[in-house]
Amino acid sequence: MPDIQRIIDTIAEEIAGAPHRGRVADYIPALAKVDPMRFGIAVVAADGRVFTAGEADAAFSIQSISKVFTLTMALGKAGQALWKRVGREPSGSAFNSIVQLEQEHGIPRNPFINAGALVVSDVVLGGGDPRATIGEILRFVRYLADDDAIAIDMDVAGSEARTGFRNVALANYMKAFGNIERRVEDALNVYFNQCALAMSCRQLAMAGRFLAHDGMHPGTGRRVVSALRARRINALMLTCGHYDGSGEFAFRVGIPGKSGVGGGILAIVPGEASIAVWSPGLNERGNSQLGSLALERLSDATGWSVFTAR
Ligand code: GLN
Repeated sequence: MPDIQRIIDTIAEEIAGAPHRGRVADYIPALAKVDPMRFGIAVVAADGRVFTAGEADAAFSIQSISKVFTLTMALGKAGQALWKRVGREPSGSAFNSIVQLEQEHGIPRNPFINAGALVVSDVVLGGGDPRATIGEILRFVRYLADDDAIAIDMDVAGSEARTGFRNVALANYMKAFGNIERRVEDALNVYFNQCALAMSCRQLAMAGRFLAHDGMHPGTGRRVVSALRARRINALMLTCGHYDGSGEFAFRVGIPGKSGVGGGILAIVPGEASIAVWSPGLNERGNSQLGSLALERLSDATGWSVFTAR
C-alpha cells in the first residue's frame, strides 16, 4: 500500500500554491460566493482507513455528483427499462446543452448531463411527491456515507430554483416528447434539491465506497447494488462523468470520476479506494480545475488506474 497520507499532504501543498485556480461557477448565485482558495481531499481505502488533507470536513455543494446517487436509485426502481428513456453514450457537448435533444427525440445521451439527470430524477420521483422523494434521496446518501449529519443547503436549492432557466427549458422540452412523466415542476424540484446536497470530502468519499466494493456497503456488509450494476455505474462515470471533458479526465487520471460545478469530484478505484476532492474553481468544461490535477497527481503517485495491470 502506498503512503497515502504523505502523497495527499504533498498534493495539498502543491494545490495551495497553484496560481491558476479556474473560475467559480457564477451562474448559480449561491455558488459564486465560494472562495476559490479552498481545497480538501479524502481517501477511503479498501481496508476502511480514511486519509484526509486540507479542508476535508468542510461541506460544499455536491451539485452533479448527486447524479451518481439518483442514477443508483433510479436503476433500483426501473431496472433496465431506464435505458429506454436515457442513453449511455458520452455527449461530447456541454453539461447543460439542449442541441442533441431535438435530433434524438427527447432521449438524452446519458444520465450525467443535465437532461439525462432530469429524466433520472423523474424516475426516482415515480408516483411520489417531491418532498418525500427528496427525503428518500437524503436518507439514501446518509445511509451510504454512514452519516446522518448530511443535509441539503436550502440557500443553494432556492438559488438554483430561481435562476435555473436552462434546466426548466430542458425539462419542458423533454416533457413535449413525453420523456418527463411527472409534473415538470416536480421533477425540477427534486433535481434542484439533490444538486444542493452539502457534503464534505470525507462524507462524499464514504458515500462512494459501494462503487469501489463491487456494490457492497462495507459498513453494513449489505449489498447496495449488484456487482454488475456497480461496474456499469463506474463505466458511465468514466465515459460521461466529466461531460465533454470525460476523455481528457480518463486520459489524465484513468479512473471513473463524477464532477459537480461546486468544484467537487468523486473518483472510484475499484477494489482500492473511494476518493473525494474539492476545489471550487472550474475549467472551461465546468469541471474542477485543481481537483482534476489533484487526482492526476494521486493516480500517478499510487499507480491507481483502471488501465494499468495489477
Ligand atoms: N445544478 C447544476 C445545474 O443544473 C449542476 C450542474 C453540474 O454540476 N455540472 O446546472
